[in-house]
Amino acid sequence: MSAVLSVPNAKGEEIVSYNPATGEEIGRAPNCSRENVFERVEKSRAAFTRWKETSFGERARFVMRAREVILSEMDEIARLISDESGKPVVEAFSAEIAPVLDLMQYFARNAHKILKPERINIGQLKFLGRSSKIIYKPLGVVGIISPWNFPFSIPLGEVAMALMAGDTVVLKPSELTPLVGLKISEIFQRANLPADVLQVLTGDGKTGAAIVDAGVNKIMFTGSVATGKKIAESAAKTLTPVVLELGGKDPMIVFADADLEAASSAAVWGAFTNSGQACSSVERLYVEDAIAKKFTDLIVAKTKNLTQNFGHDSQTDVGAMSSENQLKIVETHVADFEKSGAKILTGGKRNANFDGVFFEPTVIENATNEMRGMREETFGPTLPIARFTTEAKAIELANDTDFGLTASVWTRDLRKGARVAEAILAGTVTINEVLYTHGIAQTPWGGFKQSGYGRTHGKLGLLELVAPQHIHTNRFTVLPNVWWFGYSTGAVETFKGFAKHFASGSLVQTMKLTPQLVKRIKELRRK
Ligand code: NAD
Repeated sequence: MSAVLSVPNAKGEEIVSYNPATGEEIGRAPNCSRENVFERVEKSRAAFTRWKETSFGERARFVMRAREVILSEMDEIARLISDESGKPVVEAFSAEIAPVLDLMQYFARNAHKILKPERINIGQLKFLGRSSKIIYKPLGVVGIISPWNFPFSIPLGEVAMALMAGDTVVLKPSELTPLVGLKISEIFQRANLPADVLQVLTGDGKTGAAIVDAGVNKIMFTGSVATGKKIAESAAKTLTPVVLELGGKDPMIVFADADLEAASSAAVWGAFTNSGQACSSVERLYVEDAIAKKFTDLIVAKTKNLTQNFGHDSQTDVGAMSSENQLKIVETHVADFEKSGAKILTGGKRNANFDGVFFEPTVIENATNEMRGMREETFGPTLPIARFTTEAKAIELANDTDFGLTASVWTRDLRKGARVAEAILAGTVTINEVLYTHGIAQTPWGGFKQSGYGRTHGKLGLLELVAPQHIHTNRFTVLPNVWWFGYSTGAVETFKGFAKHFASGSLVQTMKLTPQLVKRIKELRRK
């Protein structure tokens, strides 16, 4: 089974990519060395001097052309994503190609509006001829380091946004999905993007670490908490800013008044889509005691109805997992659930019908927050269920975690839904929805607590990719500033007046300062 792992070959110069569903090699990619990374970052820096001067319209043309390339070979791209990651081809379209095409058109059409210079209201200072504005400048070279679970949409979405912001990009795809990474490079080459504006550097963790050390202007990292911490530590040495999109242990809370038909379908999809390998998967389900039995029965029935098979079959609901390592984590958590007194209702083991990395969709009841699979990210097809009796307890259980990426609340009472959502510490909380908002280009994505910091997507995500510069202008230089040198007792009195009147924010109050200001200006003129 080790052949299913995608690892650098013996010489460490290449990565071999395997189909996790079959164990067959599907291609090879360079394992870029540190020296190579440094050279390519220099090229990116050179390309930035030209790219930053392009207009939003020019950038948008390249992004929209890249979209056309994707549309012209969607089926081949979907098949590659499915082969390299194990996911059903339906999900290659629904969770990768369709949302990223939407994101590309959205930022191509709207980046100039989001990043247009903004005037700031500076209060009473404007009456003294002062004005302030913010302009958004491209950052430079952005290093994007990505995981394998959404190998197309996560990196490509960030690439499109960075290009629209005027940055150049070095992208390191996961070593498990290098061919999808190279496909992204090919798409932009075919869109005639100028040389070195986007470079895809395939490789393992060392290649990623070299990007952090190579003096890029920002790192956009998506991956595990452990790697995120290493990156933050290395980046601190050069004060390179970092966005960290890390793991999750996302809770779903189902109240007795919820639409149980919809909630049970959402739970099954939210836990098992992409074989549970989504950072915002339903990893813990809390159901109100009164309906727990009925709800759990619905979930088990719907789970048993899922078709597990090779990703290329369009009837497949659940495909292979992406790596043997990830499956081993799932096995460990499931074993721990059983040992700690939880009960496996369906699934619970590797699917013996396949040689590849398939784990059966697994529903577990009587889970408690003390169990390992309720505390650590499982990142696999498991749905552990626990019960609660009160709203306060549901919130407490949901918040009892080191993570805070997403959460969902299910109730027909939308006021209760909003109240509970606001009490949960997570970057995104959905009411009567699960998981899918990474697919909305306009909304921010990112976590609280150990799920990371910074945002991707939406306005907040685009602002991560630019440097806000404040420009302050004085149109009124005839009078000296009262705070300039020439300090005196009169200056002390003036600033006492500032503290009492100007700092109140009230124009009426500030008018009371006028005699003292005139005195101070005369004093400065005499000096
Ligand atoms: P990972 O941390 O193992 O690897 C992520 C990337 O970092 C890979 O490209 C890897 O080669 C690179 N890398 C490894 N060591 C490095 C180092 N020292 N310096 C720089 N780069 C290094 O994560 P993974 O297994 O690929 O992805 C799964 C994790 O990603 C899960 O925890 C999941 O929750 C998280 N994830 C988060 C989000 C989000 O938006 N918050 C989205 C998808 C996945």
